[in-house]
Amino acid sequence: MNQWLQTQIEFLKGVGPQRAKLLKEELGITTYLDLLYHFPFRYIDRSRFHLIKDIPAIDGFVQLKGQIISVQESGTGRQKRLNVKFQDSTGIIDLVWFQGYKYILPNLKLHTDYVVFGKAKPYVNTWNISHPELNPYTGAEAALGWQPVYSSTEKLNASGLHTKGIQKLIENLLGLAANVRFDETLPPKLVQELKLPGFAIAIRAVHMPADVTLAQKARARFKLEELLNLQIELLLRKAINLQKNKGQVVSDVGQLFHDFYENNLPFPLTNAQKKVLKEIRRDIGSGFQMNRLLQGDVGSGKTVVALLTMLMGIGSGLQGALMAPTEILANQHFVGLQELLNGTPVRIALLTGSTKKAARKVIHEQLLNGEIHILVGTHALLEDVVQFKNLGIVVIDEQHRFGVEQRSRLWKKNDSPPHILVMTATPIPRTLAMTYYGDLDVSVIDELPPGRKPITTKHHFEKDRSLVFGFIRKEIALGRQVYVVYPLIQESETLDYNNLMDGYEAISRSFPLPEYRVSIVHGKMKPEVKDYEMQLFVEGKTQIMVATTVIEVGVNVPNASVMVIESSERFGLSQLHQLRGRVGRGAEQSYCLLMTGNKLSADTKKRIHTMVRTNDGFEISEVDLELRGPGDIMGTQQSGNLDLKIADLAKDGPLVALAREKARELLTDDPRLEKPEHVFLRMEAIKRLQDKPNWAEIS
Ligand code: ADP
Ligand code: MG
Repeated sequence: MNQWLQTQIEFLKGVGPQRAKLLKEELGITTYLDLLYHFPFRYIDRSRFHLIKDIPAIDGFVQLKGQIISVQESGTGRQKRLNVKFQDSTGIIDLVWFQGYKYILPNLKLHTDYVVFGKAKPYVNTWNISHPELNPYTGAEAALGWQPVYSSTEKLNASGLHTKGIQKLIENLLGLAANVRFDETLPPKLVQELKLPGFAIAIRAVHMPADVTLAQKARARFKLEELLNLQIELLLRKAINLQKNKGQVVSDVGQLFHDFYENNLPFPLTNAQKKVLKEIRRDIGSGFQMNRLLQGDVGSGKTVVALLTMLMGIGSGLQGALMAPTEILANQHFVGLQELLNGTPVRIALLTGSTKKAARKVIHEQLLNGEIHILVGTHALLEDVVQFKNLGIVVIDEQHRFGVEQRSRLWKKNDSPPHILVMTATPIPRTLAMTYYGDLDVSVIDELPPGRKPITTKHHFEKDRSLVFGFIRKEIALGRQVYVVYPLIQESETLDYNNLMDGYEAISRSFPLPEYRVSIVHGKMKPEVKDYEMQLFVEGKTQIMVATTVIEVGVNVPNASVMVIESSERFGLSQLHQLRGRVGRGAEQSYCLLMTGNKLSADTKKRIHTMVRTNDGFEISEVDLELRGPGDIMGTQQSGNLDLKIADLAKDGPLVALAREKARELLTDDPRLEKPEHVFLRMEAIKRLQDKPNWAEIS
């Protein structure tokens, strides 16, 4: 990059050592270039005047033209404030200052045209603007045009670097740069092909938007640049991993697999399952380590794919491990797999936190000498004492609960790292899969096993409860079972617990013994008690299961046909979808009933309507992304490290896909980014991969 742009920010007029320190600490800005890449997050049109009557519809920044009709100072000490009533031809609004107004006050004139600019907020029966910009009308306002708005922080604000201050700095810098020739940071071919504005034009347009259309094009350019750099990083990571991690070769699917397929598999695989198995088969036979994410909606049949994968490995003398996030789920996997494997020579064991010491010791030994072929368990699998003879295939169920760090602990369990298959039933929007998991390969099971009837979902208000209970009775009379789920959210644990208990009592009263039996499961129970209650339901000895979200993950009771979700306004979309997935696992028509109070926010309505409208987990995940944003979906831990400055994963999905495609093309053409036109991409990639010593292996 142009040497001049690497100048330390301290030397820019208006910065100096102190502000330089703050800019670095608060925004990570150390050079001129960094400052230029601090993009505005939006623009405000200062060239037009709004009408006071339109303010409620705008609900944000407004610019008004009008006159002051009264000025009033009130309160004392910290309560002191200045209240100005401001009028235009359509209405009156309050302008309020809480401090710093003693310079403004003496100059305020009635019956003179002023221009007011600020963020209007609703206040009791009116709207007001606190601390607006207030200037006499000059007629030159139209020239202000579109103004950029920058994000800042409290500390920066305090040192005068609020949005205006930052704008000033950037204008200074761009003024200095008038005679500097900027280099193009993107490959010229790409700029041409996509008709992007070049760097020199775009950087000015984005900060000093003379023309909004151009500013938007400039933004798109920088978004694409950012996403392209990210995709290049991810693809390089993947390439590096492949080179470094020679996988254990599973050269053929093996007799074991064939025998199982012929004699034990209880159903024909769906085409989607077959397709995924082929992808896995190709990976583990390639000589490279597999790192594959398997996405499939609840009930799509991921478990059997996992088992078949492990069988391929076992046929080649490897061992398999399946890790689940909870004991209940690990148990269920264990029991289910054991059943499927009945009559085969495959030996399977279960290891969880509650495995007794003596049993544990035996398991450790048999893992080491290879007697155990498949180990199913929880986090307990990660412990260092758990060592294998030759661990070759690791399956992680419900991936999003495991961090990257835990993934890497698994790798270390073998000389050459095991093949890894991570399975998630929470469909991740395509955009996020391409970014957060961009260094993994992704397989999708996009088809449910045949014979499933789509679950019917209905929304009921609290007042319809008797109707809902009547429906439950009818289903139970048909021999089916019912879940009733209550929210359990950390902050109000006691309250939630009380709600659950009240609900349990109400249900026990409405569904009395001996005709009905009710199980209850919640987080405060001892694991033994929990398992016991769960088991009663699994075996059909109870008809109703009252529970908190403990049952969210994985539990499989095909005879359960009704899922009632209480206070469903308090659940997120993906959680609702997960819960719903607990029913509809058998051949019967299943139902999901979403109970809510009467008052619902717009977001809640959208969540509920989405659930009622569709059973498609991917579609739901897209709505979820729109409502919550990527950070909340992926969890704060993981969202932190993407550090996007201008692109927005919730809104820029098409750009992410484009960036991925272009990154692929670029790296196919020039795998090491050695061509002169790729020098900036290369520099950026090196920076991004810096702490990874293995960059050397490909450069
Ligand atoms: P998930 O993807 O949610 O983990 P499971 O693996 O638990 O789903 O499968 C859900 C149910 O569907 C199980 O009872 C399983 O035996 C059954 N199943 C899986 N694949 C098929 C198939 N191809 N045909 C019929 N049933 C299947
Ligand atoms: Mg599962």
